Amino acid sequence: MKRDLGQNFLAAEEILEEAAQAIPLKGKTVLEIGAGHGELTVFLAKEAKSVVALELDHKLISSLRENLLAQEIKNVKIVCADALEFDFSGYEVIYGNLPYYITTPLLFKIIKSGCKSAVLLVQAEVGERIVAGPGGREYSRLSVMVQSQADAGILDFVPKECFNPIPKVDSVLLKLAMKKNFFLDEKLVNALFQHKNQSVKNALVHSTAFLGIDKQKARAIADSLDFGGDIVFCLSLKQLETLCKKFKGFSEKT
Ligand code: SAH
Repeated sequence: MKRDLGQNFLAAEEILEEAAQAIPLKGKTVLEIGAGHGELTVFLAKEAKSVVALELDHKLISSLRENLLAQEIKNVKIVCADALEFDFSGYEVIYGNLPYYITTPLLFKIIKSGCKSAVLLVQAEVGERIVAGPGGREYSRLSVMVQSQADAGILDFVPKECFNPIPKVDSVLLKLAMKKNFFLDEKLVNALFQHKNQSVKNALVHSTAFLGIDKQKARAIADSLDFGGDIVFCLSLKQLETLCKKFKGFSEKT
């Protein structure tokens, strides 16, 4: 068993069924990330017009193919590829029991792909961070970047015992519904959340090298905001957007 590819297969049929029912799939083509032996794929194939099933481990491909054949499922295209390299554009719906070791880059890729919705199994702590609101301990760069693009909600808690082999951590079933996005500067959000317990002003002043600005400019940006003294992790998405726009304005001036 290759643990390093995040191979924990979901055995709980009720969760697989719930996932497949979470979005109306009739007439749609679904992109599935990390199909494994087809645990989720067969449930998706029953609902959707077709499924493109990505799997990196070529050793799993034959059992995936056999599993689909045995159930007479013919609307699945198997692709042996690395999801980090594969082009996600053009898919309206993305699904996946995401391999833990690349959850964050895959999440970023999904929210930028142009898809309309996604249903994903992620580590419980990651899911909680994604849906966290301002002012809480879990509110982070991940919360902000995902929520700037999507309404995120946890559909169900999935205990680790539902997987085979049993991983160290529990999971959650997460649904993302893309929306009109906020304007956020990823680098600036990164910089701010490195200092998330500081005021906006101090966080900016302490990020000057990273952001390529001088201290004077950092102070000027903070002073132009009516929330420059607020603590970073208490900022709403709207305030973060205002700050990113101000930052862009200041950068263009010089
Ligand atoms: N969908 C199955 C398997 C989930 S486990 C289920 O729900 O039970 C995660 C799967 O992702 C594994 O099969 C693993 O081999 C695959 N995987 C890991 N890294 C990958 C990558 N970079 N691209 C595509 N698949 C990957």
